[in-house]
Amino acid sequence: MALSDYIHTFGQYLFERHGERIHKIALDAGFTCPNRDGAKGVGGCTFCNNNSFNPNGPEPQTLESQCDSGRRAIAKRTRAKKFIAYFQAYTNTYADVAELDALYRHALTRHDIVGLSVGTRPDCVSGEALDLLAGYREEGFIVWLELGLQSAFDETLRRVNRGHGLKEYREVAVAARQRGIPLCTHLILGLPGEDESHYHASLDTVLDIGVDGLKLHPLHVVKHTVLANQWRRGEYRPLQREEYIRHACDLIERTPEHIMFHRVTGTASKDILLAPEWCSQKWSVLNGIEQELARRGSRQGCLAQGRFMEATDRTSLFGGKVGIAVDGKSAAECQVPFRHPAEEEILYAA
Ligand code: SF4
Repeated sequence: MALSDYIHTFGQYLFERHGERIHKIALDAGFTCPNRDGAKGVGGCTFCNNNSFNPNGPEPQTLESQCDSGRRAIAKRTRAKKFIAYFQAYTNTYADVAELDALYRHALTRHDIVGLSVGTRPDCVSGEALDLLAGYREEGFIVWLELGLQSAFDETLRRVNRGHGLKEYREVAVAARQRGIPLCTHLILGLPGEDESHYHASLDTVLDIGVDGLKLHPLHVVKHTVLANQWRRGEYRPLQREEYIRHACDLIERTPEHIMFHRVTGTASKDILLAPEWCSQKWSVLNGIEQELARRGSRQGCLAQGRFMEATDRTSLFGGKVGIAVDGKSAAECQVPFRHPAEEEILYAA
């Protein structure tokens, strides 16, 4: 068994839909963030040191060289020949729409780039930007919008200085999906003041609003952040590995099977990671999640309790085979094909 026997992964979906492996290449297009430059707030989120997810350091290389190096790195371990340009670092809709179009289009002109995934904040996505993304989709490109929500609790969002609330997320999530743009929402487990009741409620809220993909992350303490100071003073305790695995499995079980997991954990580079140490061991966490789901005899969607969103819309949105729990059956009862070789590599392509 592999993790993909228990979880509907994004890579698995791409393989089934397109008949070949497609990987994300993470890009830094040189954006900044309105929660850092004063437009929405200053200082940024308390946990954010953008180097924790920026592979290129403070001076990004050109998109061409990032694509080339990403392609080479992926080619070393997979046979993928097609890629999604993943605009990951900072807030990738923080520019006027003409500038966004030029950047995104630049990536899409490469012969082996078959789509875009655009990561951003919920309060920084204009209707024009959504129209732009919807237009690429109409041209036949794969397009995803990735929204960092992290928690559905405004109190938590204030506490970590996110600079937006659930309201902004709800508005953009609905507007994106109304345009047919698939939405991947990021949630963090282990935020200050939260416990499993918050994780469950945040997931339920996201599912109720409507979502197509999820990323789960443990909260990392990285250098040069407010959270690092709180951690040093003993004001913040990170989740332990076993706690994270248990909570992640709980959320996976509650997530309907048609929703794709783009990630179920996250890593930070060792040179900036302060705690928890296990966050640097991605495979240990992935294996732990697989083993825990096997131990429970469960899988994604087995506790989704009839949360199966608009099946016909799903078919038209993705045009492919998706697993949907129906008629109150658990996902496990639905016999959805759930296999894909070496899926874990794809899960963590980005
Ligand atoms: S919105 Fe993203 S880039 Fe901006 S401060 Fe928060 S985590 Fe960092």
